Amino acid sequence: MTGTAPSSAAPLLEVVGLKKHFPITRGVLRRRQVAAVKAVDGVDFTVAEGETLALVGESGCGKTTTGRMVLRLIEPTAGSVRFAGHDLTGLDADALRPHRRDMQIIFQDPYGSLDPRMTVAQLLEEPLVIHGVGDRRQRRARVMELLELVGLPQAHALRYPHEFSGGQRQRLGIARALALRPRLIVCDEPVSALDVSIQAQIINLLEDLQRDFGLAYLFIAHDLGVVKHVADRVAVMYLGRIVETAPKRRLYAAPRHPYTQALLAAVPVPDPFVRKAPIALPGEIPSPAAPPPGCHFHTRCPLAVERCRVEVPALRLLEPGHEVACHLATA
Ligand code: SF4
Repeated sequence: MTGTAPSSAAPLLEVVGLKKHFPITRGVLRRRQVAAVKAVDGVDFTVAEGETLALVGESGCGKTTTGRMVLRLIEPTAGSVRFAGHDLTGLDADALRPHRRDMQIIFQDPYGSLDPRMTVAQLLEEPLVIHGVGDRRQRRARVMELLELVGLPQAHALRYPHEFSGGQRQRLGIARALALRPRLIVCDEPVSALDVSIQAQIINLLEDLQRDFGLAYLFIAHDLGVVKHVADRVAVMYLGRIVETAPKRRLYAAPRHPYTQALLAAVPVPDPFVRKAPIALPGEIPSPAAPPPGCHFHTRCPLAVERCRVEVPALRLLEPGHEVACHLATA
């Protein structure tokens, strides 16, 4: 959202070789592993301070699992997550606690993440209590400040989550994520459950907060139309792997991976005089329990050649900041 985040700055977040393989077990006690669902199969990316990296792809591509592994809400099978110079991967719960303050999450369904029996004041105060921040008076002042930051009246502090609209509940989710003054927020499909007009309000709020507090966002989405408004850089995932990553303007102007091209061709253009022919992708996204060999995308790719069926394409640098995992891609 900052437009041109500095690519040379030391990254706030650095993810290397991250994998999550969920075992498929059989037997009476389900102790015999017979296969694995490779939800995430070796992803690398960085997020700089104040930058928004969008992680996009169809449902089941592994983007949400990736976001949760970054926060250690799901334990990785392999790989590392470095945050502000600290390797988080091997830390136990106590050692992880101070870093948790700096890394928060906004969920797609804020209602599911807000305890319906708690008032807004209690919900917003809870993270401060858990992390031992301030005394009671200071925490209450912070709750009022948070409501103001997300554009909700302070009088709403005594209401319960069911008394709010979807957009207001997402504002509460954002306020809760902001409570501990984080440096990075994983935004997991934060607007996909909202009406289009409300989506714009929430996106604007996230942009304002980023500008005011220098927040970094890992913005997880399936909608490339939304991502166009929020991202500095975009990483496209398919079946657990990143297939293309580029600065936003470059990705939208000159996508090089056939999967990215198909996703972008499917984004509606808000101009009745512009006609786009969507690139039809045959078939369904294959199961991550049995991904196709070679290039995972070859079963749906209109350009696939024999090499694609046997050889995994490496993520190659085509231009500064623009990497593509396709045997045929050229700059
Ligand atoms: Fe298509 Fe082959 Fe490129 Fe994969 S490597 S995207 S199958 S052309």
